[in-house]
Amino acid sequence: MNRRDEIAAGLAAVRTRVEAACRLAGRDVAGVTTVVVTKTFPASDVALLAELGVREVGESRDAEASAKAAELADLPLRWHFVGRLQSNKVRSVAAYADVVHSVDRTKLVAGLSRGAADRGAVIDCLVQISLDGDPSRGGADPDDVPVLAARIADADGLRLAGVMAVAPQGVDPADAFTRLADAAARLRTEHPGAAVVSAGMSGDLEQALAAGATHLRVGSAVLGSRPPLQ
Ligand SMILES: *Cc1c(COP(=O)(O)O)cnc(C)c1O
Repeated sequence: MNRRDEIAAGLAAVRTRVEAACRLAGRDVAGVTTVVVTKTFPASDVALLAELGVREVGESRDAEASAKAAELADLPLRWHFVGRLQSNKVRSVAAYADVVHSVDRTKLVAGLSRGAADRGAVIDCLVQISLDGDPSRGGADPDDVPVLAARIADADGLRLAGVMAVAPQGVDPADAFTRLADAAARLRTEHPGAAVVSAGMSGDLEQALAAGATHLRVGSAVLGSRPPLQ
């Protein structure tokens, strides 16, 4: 099979899973956006995804993402930054990202806002929430979410779009995603427009959809297994 056919098959398989999970949950597939996470895969794969109709792509490392976004600037893609965001990478990420899923501390907000202004763009920001109280994995403590959300909502050039989480290891993803859904509902009482719930990856997208995820971040189920990250 050539690479284009492989990727098309991966996309079709994920679509079938999403449709089945939505049917089970009584949800409309139109309410679900699948972001294809392309980290470690070459720009040529991203170009094939675009040819196959994918418009939302995700990356988790700035150096790799900025190079791909520059190389593929002519394609009609929206770039989602889904990885841990280091303070010294914020301005670089803000130069190409349309959506940042991993805003987990107030320190990041000013840089994102300035970066959005430089570009004359509005960046959608998701508050990444830690569901296991382990800050090393990224994500804000649920108690810190209201203050962080207010900072984003008040910042020029940023739109508070919703929440994101990665299911912690060793925890039932269904429980984790239920806690995320609760946090999302609390956020919407203050910020009704913050409707995005980014949850669910190749291994747990069914549980995420059952719990109300609006955005999935799917890598290996579309593109194949990745070499281990260094
Ligand atoms: C890599 C990554 C994904 C995709 O993971 P798969 O298991 O390959 O689907 C999703 N979210 C984040 C934050 C990632 O870093």
